[in-house]
Parts: sequence; structure tokens; C-alpha cells
Amino acid sequence: MSDLLTDRETCASLVTEFGSPVNVHNFSSLQRNARDMVDAAARHSVDLRVFVARKANKTVGLVDAVRDLGHGIDVGSHRELTQVLERGMPAERIILTAAVKTRELLHHALTHRVPVALDNLDETTLALQVSGDAGVSSPAVLRLAPEVLDGLTPTRFGERSSIWLRFLDSQQATDIEQRLPVVGVHFHLHGYAPQHRTTALGQAIDLVDQLRARGHQVEFIDMGGGVPMSYIDDAAAWSRFGQALHQAVLRSDDALTWRGDGLGLYCEDHDDGPRVTGQRDTYPYHQELVRGEWLESVLTGEIAPGVTAAQALRQRGLALHCEPGRSMLDGCGLTLARVAFRKHTSDDVAVVGLEMNRTQCRSTSADFLVDPILVRTGETGGAESVDGSHGSTDSWSAPDGAFLVGAYCIEAELILKRRLHFPRGVNVGDVIALPNTAGYLMHILESASHQIPLATNVVASGAGFIQDAIDTW
Ligand SMILES: *Cc1c(COP(=O)(O)O)cnc(C)c1O
Repeated sequence: MSDLLTDRETCASLVTEFGSPVNVHNFSSLQRNARDMVDAAARHSVDLRVFVARKANKTVGLVDAVRDLGHGIDVGSHRELTQVLERGMPAERIILTAAVKTRELLHHALTHRVPVALDNLDETTLALQVSGDAGVSSPAVLRLAPEVLDGLTPTRFGERSSIWLRFLDSQQATDIEQRLPVVGVHFHLHGYAPQHRTTALGQAIDLVDQLRARGHQVEFIDMGGGVPMSYIDDAAAWSRFGQALHQAVLRSDDALTWRGDGLGLYCEDHDDGPRVTGQRDTYPYHQELVRGEWLESVLTGEIAPGVTAAQALRQRGLALHCEPGRSMLDGCGLTLARVAFRKHTSDDVAVVGLEMNRTQCRSTSADFLVDPILVRTGETGGAESVDGSHGSTDSWSAPDGAFLVGAYCIEAELILKRRLHFPRGVNVGDVIALPNTAGYLMHILESASHQIPLATNVVASGAGFIQDAIDTW
């Protein structure tokens, strides 16, 4: 990313050739990201296999990179499944976790012997029917909804241990063994707390023991995703932002964000003065424990007095699977957008218009809190910036900073909600780079409203960039 951003000519030509915005990928960091996890597990003699969550980035380039590195992939829909099979991913390196599985999807997975994470009893009944009709036997993984203990939050995914066991006990044992042999137990938790993973691993291990006692040959536990990554190295900068936002909300000040948006925080008036309430609704963009170190803290956590998760897995000869999305895409891509205009709102707030819309850099987080980078590719004649050095009569002034706005005809169409400062100005034709957007931010919520086409995706290849196959899939 750094190399590309120092190469203004290439930035300018990418936007010219592929349109704005353009999502630029380079999957060379994937190897390090996955190795971090595998090596950390190996230090505790745990055999870890990585299944990258397909939904975190839609490029086919990602599938190819994962395949070539020998890792696996977690798919969530029929198209994702068909596609990874077409790209030559072996069935045993795929897991189907789709939240809703149609008969057709189950048929496709079961006839290709792709392991299926079964979410509920209706789905399992359907899967038994489909495998019976097709006369196939295909590996099943039970999705466990961990009990709400030790801080674990309730989940709509999976079934509780007791429900699975009661169901299995009510079936013809041979039906399950012949059609849907249970090879694993799966869970995927919201949030990032390592101690929650340890707790859930403990519960999954209990379920494995009970399944094995019933004769099922369970080989692995899949701990899902939610592996943290850190976008911002500087812990102090991150905590300063948190404090500044709190203060801004308390003072109903719009110096930091668009119209004083609290990113989930609100100011409430009380007799003794204003008070900040609510919860900041943003991804933890700075995190101390990421990937390997985080996994070590999961594995060294105790699931019973004196027994670590790693020991319990080793003693049972269980492999550990994981399905990280975001953290595997750390360093794998950025978004470039062209500056179209600069202006002021009717109440004199400076805005910079990008050839882009807000769904093209967006996740469930209330804002993307990584600083964008200005690449000065624009016209330096004519309308000039606050730079001062050019002394142009057309100079565009934003001494209080400006907001990035986009193409949707909505008043609050903000690319980022934070006020940005342009000490050397900003020109039409400049490129704004949004760094490290490959995990979710470019794709998970993108839309084509106003019939504006979706952004083009390119992947680094040799000396240049080529358009990814997903754009015409
Ligand atoms: C979304 C999802 C993942 C990936 O989560 P990350 O937070 O990106 O690591 C993995 N497994 C399942 C079942 C998911 O739904």
C-alpha cells in the first residue's frame, strides 16, 4: 500500500483506467497473516487449519491466493460454493456455513462431499433427506450455540449441546453414520474476547466427548472467525480519539464529526448537567492482541482447573479449525477515489466530493476510523488549494477542515464522518486513498443505487494490475 501511494502516476492511472473508486488488491500479506495463526498453534502442539471467510472480500483473487497457499475457505452461499469449487479448491478444504441453506445448496455441497456446518434441526432433517435421496455420504459439522456463561452473549446461530444430543439420540444411528457422519463441532462468536473463545472451546470439547461416547468419529473443532486485527499501530492516538469524541459529544461540539455525530454516543441532559450515554459503535481499530498472540491467549486459557484449551485438544487428538475473515485480509487492499469537487454547504461547512458512494467503504462499524491519504495527482493550475504557495485567486479554503461526501442523493452521504484537515489543500483530480479496506469495507455493504456501477476490483499481477474475475462472474 505504501509503495503504491508514493507512486502518484500509477494511482492516477488506476482511477483513469478502471474508474473511481477502484479497489486495489495485493494478496502477498495473506501468507504472513495465516502463518501467524498456524505458527502460534504449533507452539502449543495444536494442529490448526485456516479456512478464510469468503464473505470478507469478494475477489476471485482471494480464492486463488488461499488455494495456492494450501489453506481452506469458509463459504456462505450457493454462488460462493460453486465458485470456489470451480477455482479448484478441494472439497475437504471448504466448509459451508451459510446461515440459510436451501435444498439445492445442500444437494450441491453433499454431492461434492463438502463439509456442512449444520445450524439447526430443520436443516439437519433436510440434509438427511437430501443425502438419502442422492445416495451420498458427506461429512457434517454440528454448529454449537454455546451456553450463556462467563460473559458469552446469546446467539441465534447453532443449537445448544442438549438439543443436538437429544436429536441424535432420536434418530436411527445408522442413518446419521451412513449419510452425515459427524466429523466436527463448530461455533462462531460475536466479538473478539479470547476468554470467550476459551469458554466456548471448553463447551465444544464437552460436546465432542459426548459425541465420541456415542460412536461419532469427531476429528476437529472449528472456532469460527472473529480473529482481531489492528488498523492503527499507535495506541495513544486511538485512545486520544476516544477521549476527544467523548468531549465533543459532551459539549455538543461538531469539531470532530459531521453535525456532531457521536458514532453511537449521545448527550443526555440531567439536572446536574449533560452526561454522555450510549455505546460507541465502532470497530476497535487499535487492538493489542492480534492473530497469533490472540490465539495463544485463547489456547493457554483454562477450560477446567489446571487444563488449558491446548492441552484438552492435544489429549483428544483434535485438530483446531478457524474461519478468520478480516484479519487475513490485513494489508491486502485499499480503495482509491477521485476528487470531483470542493464546495461549502449552505451553513458554510466545507465538503469534498468524491466519485464514490458511502457503501463503497463501509461495514457495520459507525465509521471507518483509519485516516485517508491524499495523493496529489490533481490539477495544480486553475482552482488552487489552501497551500498558499501558489497564490491563486481561485484558492479553495477549508481552514476548519472538510468532510468527504459521495454520490448518493442523500443529505448525510458521508464517506467518512470525521472532519479531515488538508493543510496543503485538495484539488479536483486528486486521489483519496482509503487504506486497508480489503476486509469487509469495500464489499460487504456495497450497493449500486442510482444505477451507478459497483467499483472495479483489480489485483496486483507481476508489474501491473488486472481486473478481477468477480466483476464479470
Ligand atoms: C463472518 C464469519 C466469519 C468471519 O469473521 P471475521 O470477524 O471476519 O473473522 C467466520 N465464520 C462465520 C460463520 C462467519 O459468519
